[in-house]
Amino acid sequence: MTKFNTRLIHGGDSEDLTTGAVSTPIYRASTFHQRVLGGSPKWEYSRTGNPTRAALEKLMAQLEEGVAGFAFASGSAAIATVFALYSRSDHFVVGKDVYGGTFRLINQVLKRFGMEFTVVDTQDPAAIEAAIQDNTVAIYFETPTNPLLQITDIRAVTRLAKRHHLRTIVDNTFATPYNQQPLTLGADIVVHSATKYLGGHSDVVAGIAVTNDAVIAEQLAFLQNSLGSTLGPDDSWLVQRGIKTLAARMRIHEENAAAVVDFLQTDAHVAKIYYPGLTDFPGHAVAAEQMRGFGAMISFELQAGLDVKQFVEHLQLIDLAESLGGIESLIEVPAVMTHGSIPRAVRLKNGISDELIRLSVGIEDATDIISDLRQALSQLD
Ligand SMILES: *Cc1c(COP(=O)(O)O)cnc(C)c1O
Repeated sequence: MTKFNTRLIHGGDSEDLTTGAVSTPIYRASTFHQRVLGGSPKWEYSRTGNPTRAALEKLMAQLEEGVAGFAFASGSAAIATVFALYSRSDHFVVGKDVYGGTFRLINQVLKRFGMEFTVVDTQDPAAIEAAIQDNTVAIYFETPTNPLLQITDIRAVTRLAKRHHLRTIVDNTFATPYNQQPLTLGADIVVHSATKYLGGHSDVVAGIAVTNDAVIAEQLAFLQNSLGSTLGPDDSWLVQRGIKTLAARMRIHEENAAAVVDFLQTDAHVAKIYYPGLTDFPGHAVAAEQMRGFGAMISFELQAGLDVKQFVEHLQLIDLAESLGGIESLIEVPAVMTHGSIPRAVRLKNGISDELIRLSVGIEDATDIISDLRQALSQLD
């Protein structure tokens, strides 16, 4: 098989099978002409299968080293469809630092259907083991997490999951398969918000699930078609177009992130930095073992008493916005924005202070990103 960076461009159905076009065409059709009655045509209805979506799904299956990929209307739709594999009274062990929308899905939707959840710190395999019950079916977590960049040892978790006959589901949005392939470390299902690094240009909302288990693949195909949570052909094309430059983008994202971390370390306004690439960061050793690179998400805290609001509002280049993983640098304050719906006491207990700032480092010139940070920080004096 070709190398990963080559597969980004030539993997899956990268070429149109009928015309040889080097970009998969956008098959904007809801239905397909059936030449004979009662045959089994490859394409019949676009919810069930669409060639543009299928090209993306095949590519993602290859990039995550699974047997089948599925593209959804959003990362949230991918996650909801994966949970629909399960039934009432099924119990899950869930990482404590997962995406806010995943918590909302669990607490306000899935619990209504009688599914059960225990939230633990998955950095500690003993805590997972202690939470396992007779009706536990799966362990669900993210690594690195949002916004604290905490690292869970995927191999350690999948080893204990297999011992207890549980499945492991990993949200791989922050790392992308460029940096980490959970299925190769023993996980059963990987999910993505393709809205982030896979799409990469802040111009599409999409989700992906990949599995390496043929039985799960068949069930996910059934659920994707039954729930109708599918990605349309235009958006499928945008995500595949984004993936072609994933390696090129990630290289610059990470180079810039390293430069930004170097700068933040020398600036007296900054009290604490969360970045797995720092050798004294708690998850550094595990990250170095299971990831190819450390990504380009950085969180940091200003010195006590400094005005976070004033800092982010003084930035001129870096956009104050939710989301991440786009070519443009995006900054946000989790306490007010992405994690604002979590009660303050719970948020503080989980380590997300009012001063915490999350930065998605883009691929602009690093000098410009750093100058912008420097000028906004210096205005706090
Ligand atoms: C954004 C995000 C999601 C949700 O994806 P959407 O595409 O916004 O529905 C899930 N997990 C993580 C880690 C995310 O960052």
